[in-house]
Amino acid sequence: MTKKVAVLGEIRDGSLRNVSFEGLAAARTIAEGGEILAVLVGASLGTLAQDMIHYGADRVVTVEDEKLAQYTPDGFSQAFLSVVEQEKPEAIVFGHTALGKDLAPKIASRLGCGLISDAVDVEIAGGNVVFTRPIYSGKAFEKKIVSDGIVFATIRPNNIAPLEKETSRAGEVTALSAEIKDLRTIVREVAKKATQGVDLSEAKIIVAGGRGVKSADGFSPLQELADVLGGAVGASRGACDAEYCDYSLQIGQTGKVVTPDLYIACGISGAIQHLAGMSNSKVIVAINKDPEANIFKVADYGIVGDLFEVVPMLAEEFKNLLI
Ligand code: FAD
Repeated sequence: MTKKVAVLGEIRDGSLRNVSFEGLAAARTIAEGGEILAVLVGASLGTLAQDMIHYGADRVVTVEDEKLAQYTPDGFSQAFLSVVEQEKPEAIVFGHTALGKDLAPKIASRLGCGLISDAVDVEIAGGNVVFTRPIYSGKAFEKKIVSDGIVFATIRPNNIAPLEKETSRAGEVTALSAEIKDLRTIVREVAKKATQGVDLSEAKIIVAGGRGVKSADGFSPLQELADVLGGAVGASRGACDAEYCDYSLQIGQTGKVVTPDLYIACGISGAIQHLAGMSNSKVIVAINKDPEANIFKVADYGIVGDLFEVVPMLAEEFKNLLI
C-alpha cells in the first residue's frame, strides 16, 4: 500500500547530515511508490531543501523561526507536529542520532503511535513494513513488523545507503509558519569541543585505539594512519578511562555506534561493550599482541603484533600507495 512518508532532515553546522539522505532512501522503500516528504526545521535553511530533493524527496516543507536556531525538544516537536497536522503522513523517519533519539519518542507519544528505534534495514514483506534492528548489544538482530497505525522509525546512521544524488530532480518547497511558543528550554550558547579532522560518527575509515596504546602520546601513530587514510580516530572506553583520550572518541555500548567501511582496532581486546559500537563495520582489521584476544573473533583481518611496529608500517605503506 502506498504511503506518504515524512523524513526529518537533520542539520549540523548549516549542512544536512548524511543520515538525512539515508532516511530518504529508507522512505523510498516504506513509501512503496507513495510521496516522500522532507521536513526541515531551523532558523536559516538556505538551499538545504534542494539537497533533500536531489537525494530523493518529492516535496519539502520547511519551518523556519529564529527560536529554532538551536535544537530544543519543545521547539522542534511543535514545529514537526504542525507539519504532521497539515500533511498527515502515514510514516515518519528520523535518524537514530542524539537529536532523533531525543525527539522521536516525544513525537511518537504525542501521536499515540509506536516507535521502532535504531533500525539498520527496512523492507516490505507480506504487505507489511519490516524493520531489522540489533538486540543484545548487536549480538543478534530482530525483525519488527508494523502492520497498522503510523509507521515511525529511527534509522542507525551509515546502514541504509542513500540514493544517488540527482541534481536534475525538482520538487515543490513550501514554508509552513508554525507558532513556536512557551519554550521551556532556551539555548544561550553552544560550546563545541575543539576537534579537528573527520567527524567520527560519519567517518568511512576509523582507526581506534585501546588501552594497548599505553598513553596519550601512543595515539600519535594512530592519528597519522587516520590522516593518511582520510579517516578519524576513535577509542575504546579502556583508553578513555585511562585518560589517553577524550570521551568524545569512545565507541561502544555507552559511546558512539559506528559503521564505517573500514575499522582498524589497535590494542583493543574486543569486550562485548566495545563490539556493540563497531561490529557492524564493513571490514574490521584488528591489531593485537594477544592472539587469543576476542577482537579477532569479529575481525575480517587480524594482525598479531605490536601496534607500535605495525601501525607506522601500515601508515608508510598506505602513504606510498596513495601518492
Ligand atoms: P583492555 O581490555 O585492557 O585491552 C587492551 C588490549 O591491548 C589487550 O587485548 C592487549 O593484548 C592489547 N595490547 C596491549 N599492548 C599492545 C601492543 N603494544 N600492541 C598491540 N596490542 C596490545 N568499552 C568500550 O570500549 N566502549 C563502551 O561503550 C563501553 N561501555 C561499557 C558499559 C558498561 C556498562 C561496562 C560495564 C563496560 C563498558 N565498556 C565499554 C568497557 C569494556 O567492558 C572494556 O573494559 C573495555 O572495552 C576495554 O578496553 P580495551 O580493549 O581498550 O582494554
